[in-house]
Amino acid sequence: MSITSLSDECELPTGSVDAAKNPAVLDFIAIGLGPFNLSLACLADPIRDLHGRFLERNQGFDWHPGMLIDDTTLQNPFLADLVSLADPKSKFSFLNYCKQEGKLYAYYIRERFYLSREEYNRYCKWAISQLSSIDFGSNVDRAEYDLERGHYIVSGRRVGTGQPFMYRARRIVVGVGSVPLQLPTSVEGEFISELNVGVAPHAVPHNGIT
Ligand SMILES: Cc1cc2nc3c(=O)[nH]c(=O)nc-3n(C[C@H](O)[C@H](O)[C@H](O)COP(=O)(O)OP(=O)(O)OC[C@H]3O[C@@H](n4cnc5c(N)ncnc54)[C@H](O)[C@@H]3O)c2cc1C
Repeated sequence: MSITSLSDECELPTGSVDAAKNPAVLDFIAIGLGPFNLSLACLADPIRDLHGRFLERNQGFDWHPGMLIDDTTLQNPFLADLVSLADPKSKFSFLNYCKQEGKLYAYYIRERFYLSREEYNRYCKWAISQLSSIDFGSNVDRAEYDLERGHYIVSGRRVGTGQPFMYRARRIVVGVGSVPLQLPTSVEGEFISELNVGVAPHAVPHNGIT
């Protein structure tokens, strides 16, 4: 499908484009910022030649607000944090969070290897505070594939101002949880079959950026 009518009002990303390849086409756009794409943001952060942005409709991160019930824990031990199983040396590990926050020995001595949901939420916010690739308040309402140019066009509006935005990217990563998203019609069939693992056919692998 060819895209011919893009709004002149649209913002183009400026800070993270790869001028050597194409000044206006990012390597990837990630839609939604729950734990799925936050993990990708942390893993992608140290890769200098990889340029992407993460678009989240909410104005900030809050993991399942209303469900952070006292004394409830994650179902997984802390090693299944945002990064450790893919990159144990990452600065975004839960262990580094504990070190920075002065909680390392408390966790060790009490043998608390299953985080409370509250702690997990704080840990995610701590990781986000170190990332510059996230645009909160950005609601994506369309993702299309431009066959002529060979890249995706992702568009939507800034929450609050209503300002339209548009990004071009070679790949998209969909991490919108259970919320439906309008998909590129050229790949819709395949796309939906892949959606259970959250990765489009043309998308960046979640834990294996190439
Ligand atoms: C109470 C509760 C406890 C859970 N506990 C665990 C657990 O212990 N272990 C476990 O493995 N799993 C658990 N889960 C499963 C849960 O689904 C995952 O933990 C996780 O939240 C899924 O992450 P996600 O990034 O895929 O989606 P989500 O967390 O749902 O994030 C999706 C994000 O995409 C954004 N978004 C959606 N559409 C758009 C759009 N059009 N434009 C921009 N942004 C958009 C949303 O605002 C949202 O922030 C739990 C779930 C619940 C409800």
